[in-house]
Amino acid sequence: MQELVIIGAGYAGLAAFAAATQAGQSPILIAKDFGGSRFFSGAFDVLDPAFQLGSFQVSQTPSTKELLSQFIRVHPQHLYAKFGAADFDFVNRAKEFCSFYHLPAVFEDNMIACFGSSGKAKWSAGAMAGQGLRQSELAEIKKVVLVNVSALTDYPAGLIAKNLKKQFNDVTVLTVDLGALNATAPLAHVNQLMDAGDLFEKLCGALAGVAGSNAVIMMPPILGVRSFQKHHQELRERFSAKTLELLSVLPSISGERAHQFILKKLAEFPKRFVQQEILSVECADNVFNLKLSDQQIEAKKVILATGKFVGGGVRREGRFFETLFDLPLIDAQQVPVKGKTMIQLSHARAEQNQDFMGVGVNWEQSPSALQPCGHVLGGFDFAREKCGFGISLISAHKSLN
Ligand SMILES: Cc1cc2nc3c(=O)[nH]c(=O)nc-3n(C[C@H](O)[C@H](O)[C@H](O)COP(=O)(O)OP(=O)(O)OC[C@H]3O[C@@H](n4cnc5c(N)ncnc54)[C@H](O)[C@@H]3O)c2cc1C
Repeated sequence: MQELVIIGAGYAGLAAFAAATQAGQSPILIAKDFGGSRFFSGAFDVLDPAFQLGSFQVSQTPSTKELLSQFIRVHPQHLYAKFGAADFDFVNRAKEFCSFYHLPAVFEDNMIACFGSSGKAKWSAGAMAGQGLRQSELAEIKKVVLVNVSALTDYPAGLIAKNLKKQFNDVTVLTVDLGALNATAPLAHVNQLMDAGDLFEKLCGALAGVAGSNAVIMMPPILGVRSFQKHHQELRERFSAKTLELLSVLPSISGERAHQFILKKLAEFPKRFVQQEILSVECADNVFNLKLSDQQIEAKKVILATGKFVGGGVRREGRFFETLFDLPLIDAQQVPVKGKTMIQLSHARAEQNQDFMGVGVNWEQSPSALQPCGHVLGGFDFAREKCGFGISLISAHKSLN
């Protein structure tokens, strides 16, 4: 009989696994894949202040605690308010998460800046290496060299430069022909680019004479999956510059990078990480019985981190359901698809999901032994709330208490 089973290996399940293990427990983690964590864009978001609270100037960036307190005052119905997130030591807990999985990430309590794929600054409490700048670094930047890889037809260098010019006086666009891509290569296909061949040297050759001290070299996510840290380091040393890869598009290179580290860490727990689908869960006499294709696992406590649309959630007769307990994630009412963007659709769905905020509370047999966390919590939607990692982390810690 297992004391604790965590279902799901998106950031919520991974955060619960890390926190429980660090607290000396021996949880079992079961997941069929890695959910949204595989796609995340490189910033560990606690909140997107530009989206929710108006934009901040570099000199006025609030601390995570101030930001959350202000946010909770404005949105008392939000999950953050229910979790008492203003008292949660977000940055240190996030650092613990990244240290557990050996993720190369930077965090700062006065938020660091990342840049989206349109060159717009985005504040976040943390980012994968090479995808965020601290507030102090940002203030020192005198010059931006924007690398435009000519064959990447969906990389809007003109738009990015226009947005960057709103923040920096000196923006140079450097068009680079890496020769390895055909004229219609989409950005999404360059994930492995710098890991192969002599392309990195070509990039350095093109940068010679353009980049320099107090400059930041901004580029599409081209530094590869395996070699990115080495290449960031080398670019910084060769050109005495800072480097920044603009946040990924799908499929996410940051997600792939993080995934490599996470897989390596989970391999240290061959008996505690099971990569399989759970077919059903039953509960009797305060014991959960989880059915997998080739085995059954009994558990006293279950953390349900099955997500919604990316990792978990099934569509049946026009509605979405959480996979294991068949919790309805979307109201029966259909959202008309025609003429709506994906973001509009997910906003509408998130509104409807408010009703399911208390998922698990009605679990008749043993409510306290079933704890939901992450996206499966109704009322939360990453596209609307822009705080995916924040909710994952906070709800994971909450579910363990
Ligand atoms: C495209 C995209 C970009 C994002 N970018 C960012 C970002 O830049 N910053 C940020 O902070 N957040 C981002 N997020 C959000 C972040 O990825 C999520 O907050 C995070 O993954 C937490 O989600 P989750 O763990 O609740 O669910 P998910 O990630 O969806 O994971 C669900 C897990 O449950 C498992 N599962 C479901 N059903 C079963 C079953 N029956 N048996 C076994 N396993 C099961 C799945 O395999 C999966 O492991 C992004 C998400 C997406 C989709």
